[in-house]
Parts: sequence; C-alpha cells; structure tokens
Amino acid sequence: MKELQRELNLTYLFISHNLAVVYHMSNHVGVMYLGRLVEVAPSRVLFAKPRHPYTKLLLDTIPDLEMKGGERTPVAGEVPNPINPPSGCAFHPRCPFANDRCKVEAPLPIALPDGAKIACHGVEEGRIPDAA
Ligand code: SF4
Repeated sequence: MKELQRELNLTYLFISHNLAVVYHMSNHVGVMYLGRLVEVAPSRVLFAKPRHPYTKLLLDTIPDLEMKGGERTPVAGEVPNPINPPSGCAFHPRCPFANDRCKVEAPLPIALPDGAKIACHGVEEGRIPDAA
C-alpha cells in the first residue's frame, strides 16, 4: 500500500483499531469515539503527545515492549449504546476528568499550534495533565 501510494500519489482513508499499523501508515490520525472525532493530529504529534483523555487511554493499551514498567490504565466502564449516546461529551461516563460541564455540553474541536485539533472541555480548560 505504501509503495502504491508513492507511485500513484494516492491519498488513503485508512480505518483500523491496530494502532501500530495506523502509526506506520498515516501522516494524519483522527481518533473517533462513538462516531465523533475527538482528536485529529499529525501522527508524530498524536503518538508522542496524545491530549484527549480517550486517546491517552487508548495508547495506554499498547503493550510496553521495552518493559519500562510504566503504569497502564485500562479504559473504565462499558461502551455506551451509540443509538442512545450519553449527553454532553459522549465519553463523560468513562472519563477520569469529567466535570458537570462535560455532562451537558458537547465539546467543539479547538486547534492547537502544532496542528492538533481536540474536542475536550478539559483540554480547553487546562485540566488535563501534559495536554498544553
Ligand atoms: S470533554 Fe470532559 S468528559 Fe469529555 S473527554 Fe474532555 S474532560 Fe473528559
């Protein structure tokens, strides 16, 4: 696929749950939760510095092959029914940073200087560690 992309100057829309393949294949990555984009960024930015709480938890599930012994946090709770998603930010029932605003108001994407766009009240309000 990479060879074809180079030869024919193609653009791919590549959808996968395999984050290693996504990293290898993509220039830009969009992370979706319940059908909504929650974070879009150049791949090197997203994998080096995930900002959205869901992206952070998702990347935490990648096995630590270098065995650095870092703490890994599983995504808590159940995936909600997409036909009847939670109010406000659909991730709020599972998010460790959720507050009252998150329960009622759906976050809009904000653009950051390094090309990332994040839809999260916590990032906007500076409540998410290492997300600035
Ligand atoms: S908007 Fe709130 S609930 Fe949603 S991911 Fe951000 S902090 Fe968590």
